Amino acid sequence: MHANLIGGEWVTGPTVRENLNPSDLGELVGVYAQADAVQARQAIAAASDARHAWAHAGIQRRAIALDFIGAELLRRQQDLGTLLAREEGKTLAEAVAEVARAGHIFKFFAGEALRQRGDKLASVRPEIEVDITREPVGVVGIITPWNFPMAIPAWKIAPALAYGNTVVFKPADLVPGSAWALAEIISRSGLPAGVFNLVMGRGGVVGQAMIESPSVAAISFTGSVETGHRLLATAAQRRAKVQLEMGGKNPLLVLNDADLDTAVDCAIQGAYFSTGQRCTASSRFIVEKGIYPRFVQRMQEQLATLQVGHALRPDTQIGPVADAAQLRQDLDYVAIGRDEGARLVFGGEALQRDTEGYFMRPALFADAAPAMRIAQEEIFGPVACAIPADNYEHALDIANASPFGLTAGICTSSLRHAAHFKRHAQAGMVMVNVPTAGVDYHVPFGGSKGSSYGAREQGSYAAEFFTTVKTAYTKA
Ligand code: ADP
Repeated sequence: MHANLIGGEWVTGPTVRENLNPSDLGELVGVYAQADAVQARQAIAAASDARHAWAHAGIQRRAIALDFIGAELLRRQQDLGTLLAREEGKTLAEAVAEVARAGHIFKFFAGEALRQRGDKLASVRPEIEVDITREPVGVVGIITPWNFPMAIPAWKIAPALAYGNTVVFKPADLVPGSAWALAEIISRSGLPAGVFNLVMGRGGVVGQAMIESPSVAAISFTGSVETGHRLLATAAQRRAKVQLEMGGKNPLLVLNDADLDTAVDCAIQGAYFSTGQRCTASSRFIVEKGIYPRFVQRMQEQLATLQVGHALRPDTQIGPVADAAQLRQDLDYVAIGRDEGARLVFGGEALQRDTEGYFMRPALFADAAPAMRIAQEEIFGPVACAIPADNYEHALDIANASPFGLTAGICTSSLRHAAHFKRHAQAGMVMVNVPTAGVDYHVPFGGSKGSSYGAREQGSYAAEFFTTVKTAYTKA
């Protein structure tokens, strides 16, 4: 039984949750405590009690703790990756890489903790100096989704602690294992009791308590659009700082002058790896007519080579879908696409394997129209569509006709089109001849339009959300 961490103590909850392996429903990954609203409020109170001392404990302590966490994640990437693959379903290679990424993020923020920048300016009044410094915001509530159970918590927790905040962390219900393992490492990193708290439990109970609590100064959330909007409305009533990362419907443009191998590789990796369960996944291939038939043909050939199976099998390239509800949603969208008149040219059906799991053959629709639901709504699974375009300008218009704006990619050998696309794609992240998914850990991450809200995450830009600015005037 894995307990919650509240005020430096491991405490069991009123209920438990069984964590099952989506590659093998017969395998229990572990049993995890489920906190209620009372325990959530206890964790918030502990974080609140710890916040002043931690804010003034000094940057060396923060750096040492973050470095310790990062080093252990890197050292244990194989076993923690195995745990991650067992509970979430991404392949072992993807899961190990995710744990390594989390380790690098903690290491990066160990360095950032030592680089607390400020400004010193002359005053417009003689003999007065102005200092501008950054201070912690206080208690930060961190609410995360199931698709990156290690990396997303890492890229929120590490900067929160680096900039001197205290944390209440609520992971997604589906993936308590990685969250608990991370919390266990953090608990041995030398942080004072209450600086970091783990509360596994239901979003509507534990998450809701965090959103409503006047003691939680800032909330960093990654998840669905619906939950994000509801969270924002509640938090706004008490003027909490909010950062939201939500959906995407990311386009990948393929122009006539693209290298076909590169384009197909970007499309396969971007749309189907991690079982398509990434907010940065490409789900719309917008392809110029001159290359369209060859692109669709090559995609079908490539898709036919992909091995779908148990996440821990060495030959698996596409693991299972994360849970039954997500699989149902993916299959429903395949039916919707057919009804809308798109041409299903590959996959789209549930698969049987040796073990009982949520396996699905990756799906590709061709000849989709931009207004179709499969071309507008986030599916969050291994389902993508190809849309033919008359020329670059037409492709760009289709790409931008979306409520989302997380990532946008283009495959082209034209410098002119690449440069134009970087300026005019309505997205927070733009990729030229690289997949839309798979980003660096030391630079800003975030979207425009309906994909994101608030300050950017990651890299030194994370300071914007996790600190507040103080301006001090001194007359000597
Ligand atoms: P996903 O489809 O990625 O699970 P959700 O938005 O449903 O997206 O969940 C993202 C995170 O938000 C999860 O940790 C979930 O438990 C949490 N959550 C869900 N409902 C609420 C809520 N009402 N208040 C706060 N957090 C919530």
